[in-house]
Amino acid sequence: MSRILDVNEENATCLVEPGVSYFDLYRYIRANKLKLWIDCPDPGWGSLIGNALDHGNGYTMSPFRDHFGAHCGMEVVLADGELVRTGMGALPGAKTWQQSKFGFGPELDGLFSQGNTGVVTKMGFWLMAEPEAYLSGTVMVYRHADLAPLLKAFQVLNNTNAMMATTRIGSPLQLGRVFGAPPDPEHAALLAKPGVTTAELESYGRQHDLPYWTLDLKFYGGREVVEAQWDHAVRLLRASLPDAKFAKGERLEFPLTDEQAEKIGDKASLGIPSLGAFFVGARTAWRRSRVRDICGSRRSSLLVRMRCSRHSGCFDQAFKEWGVAPLYRTLPQLYHRESSTCCLVSKSATISKSTARRVQSCAR
Ligand SMILES: Cc1cc2nc3c(=O)[nH]c(=O)nc-3n(C[C@H](O)[C@H](O)[C@H](O)COP(=O)(O)OP(=O)(O)OC[C@H]3O[C@@H](n4cnc5c(N)ncnc54)[C@H](O)[C@@H]3O)c2cc1C
Repeated sequence: MSRILDVNEENATCLVEPGVSYFDLYRYIRANKLKLWIDCPDPGWGSLIGNALDHGNGYTMSPFRDHFGAHCGMEVVLADGELVRTGMGALPGAKTWQQSKFGFGPELDGLFSQGNTGVVTKMGFWLMAEPEAYLSGTVMVYRHADLAPLLKAFQVLNNTNAMMATTRIGSPLQLGRVFGAPPDPEHAALLAKPGVTTAELESYGRQHDLPYWTLDLKFYGGREVVEAQWDHAVRLLRASLPDAKFAKGERLEFPLTDEQAEKIGDKASLGIPSLGAFFVGARTAWRRSRVRDICGSRRSSLLVRMRCSRHSGCFDQAFKEWGVAPLYRTLPQLYHRESSTCCLVSKSATISKSTARRVQSCAR
């Protein structure tokens, strides 16, 4: 077990055994200079098979983000010792096991996800062919009521595959205090004021050019294609949000050198596994909380803390107004049929040196 059995660059597929982690496959691809990307969850420490069987998800392009959906072919040992191969793997000598999910008859694969009806001994996955370029950008709107049209416009981008990436929706006006530097004293006083109104916040935001909501956009593709996608998104968003501002972000061309890859902040969006997710609860220049319990046996307490943390709080008002019950920071509008979800989180995370060291030692 724990072997990478095949990585096919031309077909952009792989076949792995249980125990092969996202770090393992990423390092294999880098070492062999293959023009392929993996799609990994926030922490790179899990295995492809364990995560996919648990319906895990990542952060690059749909449909690779839905890890079970992006699998192709399984080998499973049943309780009576019988060996089952799904898809084209059932045909002796088939060369297309990782290319076509469907064999003859019903599709059995779902029986083995979150099901414990067999032990998976091999599993194939579709990988993403390395794009030429990546371009990110941020949309900024200044009124509380802009959230609904912002989401609707995003939904169109998402459902027409004009943007096939995850997004983040943040509220610098209300959330600057959570991960980043604390707001300046005037802003802090306003946020702390009992019963502060939306109008007061909007007025402060306008005076200080602080958006009520931001939406991140990410594009992957040909060099000229990502620029055209950005222009298209700006046109579409402007049509429903004439006052929106747009800021182009990072533009990258691939392949990255090891040094460039190491410097990337949002690694998961580029299929680079890391343990950067554990900045949550980390000590920062502004906050002195500790992370001693995230790399040891008390990992679960981190999850509890994440779920209870205040970074979903600013959306509560909107959820109440709309009468919707969000599922863990995520609105149905942010689901995509071929991928996982996009989260509502704040931006501008920082990581302390001590956390970075801890995380690096885990990654080794
Ligand atoms: C801070 C934090 C952030 C996270 N963010 C994400 C995220 O963004 N996306 C995400 O998807 N996950 C996320 N996770 C969850 C985590 O990454 C997954 O739990 C991990 O990837 C699972 O991999 P594993 O190898 O440990 O699986 P395991 O725990 O070993 O397996 C998962 C389950 O799959 C089944 N299984 C495993 N192997 C086999 C087999 N060979 N045959 C049959 N059944 C099997 C078992 O039922 C097992 O319970 C996060 C976790 C933390 C702590």
